[in-house]
Amino acid sequence: MKVIVLSGGVGGARFLRGVVEAVDPAGVTAVVNVGDDLEALGLSVSPDLDSVVYALADLSDEERGWGRADETWNALASVEALGGDAWFRLGDRDLGLHLVRTQALRAGQPLSAVTARLTAALGLEPTILPATDDRLRTFLDTPNGSFDFQQWFVARRHRDPVDRVRFEGASDARPAPGVLEALHEADLVLIAPSNPYVSIAPILAVERIRSALERRRVPCVAVSPLIGGKAVKGPAATMLNRLEGGTSAVQVTQRYLPLIDALVIDEADARDADGIAELGVRPIVTKTLMRDAASRRALAETALDAVALA
Ligand code: GDP
Ligand code: CA
Repeated sequence: MKVIVLSGGVGGARFLRGVVEAVDPAGVTAVVNVGDDLEALGLSVSPDLDSVVYALADLSDEERGWGRADETWNALASVEALGGDAWFRLGDRDLGLHLVRTQALRAGQPLSAVTARLTAALGLEPTILPATDDRLRTFLDTPNGSFDFQQWFVARRHRDPVDRVRFEGASDARPAPGVLEALHEADLVLIAPSNPYVSIAPILAVERIRSALERRRVPCVAVSPLIGGKAVKGPAATMLNRLEGGTSAVQVTQRYLPLIDALVIDEADARDADGIAELGVRPIVTKTLMRDAASRRALAETALDAVALA
């Protein structure tokens, strides 16, 4: 079975670990958000791609939720002691990846090629693609000003309420090589339980990805990032409340209309099922907290079963 998964960082990475346990990993393609990418200390950092790569390579720190396990912070401590910019946390092991990527990008290699080289070096079977090789950056308009994603999320700890999310560069961004092909060949499209506004929307902002999804002939199933109307982590519920008028799975559904055929929601949100069905989307109720390998796999299997919707 060939599956394509649209993914952000942590929530997407956890889900992808379940997916590659449930189906042949060689048939899995992750299309990953690049709207959060940044230059930190002169290095090109792709936080969501890295979360996915580290998770699938079993290198991620499960407790911290981002970055690498068994990490140390000597380089950053030295940066700080020398008066450098240390607001974006980069561990020593993590830095190694950013060095390799930055050098390759400066030599003119596209991000997709660099990512392919990194995943090959790590022996990963699934295909991991950035949504685009072109520059696409997420900006948040708030009552306190306009911020790029990392300023808003990390430096200001996403405390500013968001009035609008913008994706600079999106109108000229082309899908990375392989994205449209994978969409065309997929038996099923999955949208990971990632933040709809700042993880999935930047992928869909690439016009040719969105239009290919609209024309697809296979089911598209999203997994809700909410449990009991709350995000497991991060600003998804706050954003849904302000921008969509509520924090239930119904608002998640609205956010993804008309692209999805089904939405997997948590048992704690079962009361939203009727409202989802009224929007013409099939609700699938299950346990969605990915606390360990078994729960990740069970959630992935439930979403994958929707291939029978076709
Ligand atoms: P980021 O790019 O690192 O912020 O990660 P994502 O956008 O991929 O994932 C963040 C979202 O994942 C948040 O909205 C969380 O609510 C959601 N999330 C994290 N863990 C879980 C989980 O175990 N179950 C579900 N349903 N959602 C989760
Ligand atoms: Ca992210």
